[in-house]
Amino acid sequence: MYAKQQQFTADASHEMRTPLAVMKLAVQGLQEDEDSRLSDFAKESVNMLQSESERLSRLTENLMTLARSDEDILPVYTAQVDITALCKKVASQMSLLTAEKKLQLKQEIQDNLVMQGDEMALSRLLIILLDNAMKYSPEQTQITLRAAKVKTHLVLDVRDEGFGISDEDKQKIFDRFFRVEKARSRSHGGLGLGLSLALAIVRQHGGSIKVLDNKPRGTVMYVKLPTAAK
Ligand code: ADP
Repeated sequence: MYAKQQQFTADASHEMRTPLAVMKLAVQGLQEDEDSRLSDFAKESVNMLQSESERLSRLTENLMTLARSDEDILPVYTAQVDITALCKKVASQMSLLTAEKKLQLKQEIQDNLVMQGDEMALSRLLIILLDNAMKYSPEQTQITLRAAKVKTHLVLDVRDEGFGISDEDKQKIFDRFFRVEKARSRSHGGLGLGLSLALAIVRQHGGSIKVLDNKPRGTVMYVKLPTAAK
């Protein structure tokens, strides 16, 4: 039964990829069509379609990766990764979404950070943490992405000034399908998969992830990764 469910998740998320990619391209076409005479309302709707289809595709990617990681076939391609460049790239990808919510995304990224790892997986890890910081923060607050070298490790942390996580829930948020306060979380469109995937990625790289309180409010997701492969 479980294996069937897992196979279904893998297949269904895989099948959703192509139509989603087509939708994203169509929306992009509309946004870039200089001859179109869209009303402000239509433009706003197109922008909404864009950010929601981005969200949906992140969700399907997470579902697919998790279904696969259960089968233990999550591929890890270890190579030298330029973490400085990766952090900057992901931050700029996310800035479209932060702007929409009037969030400020601050980058404190040291130069010349490199490590042995899987670039795709590390990129997904950063996206999950930044996406959560954005989802669970009110408008006009600040999110900080920090990347620094500490001895033989890299520290990547994402801090927000959002709703925060109670001590009781801190133990559970890395469990699959766990979501704090279902009603609040549901309106943000997640499934409770992001952090369980983040934990799997961190473990694959021989690192650790901790959740701390930000002062005076919000959350810090603190990731420590060895610079050399396991
Ligand atoms: P999802 O965001 O899809 O619900 P996650 O596994 O990424 O799933 O997160 C699990 C839960 O942890 C979320 O539902 C949310 O309640 C809580 N959470 C995660 N990150 C944050 C954050 N930065 N601030 C507050 N709550 C958070």
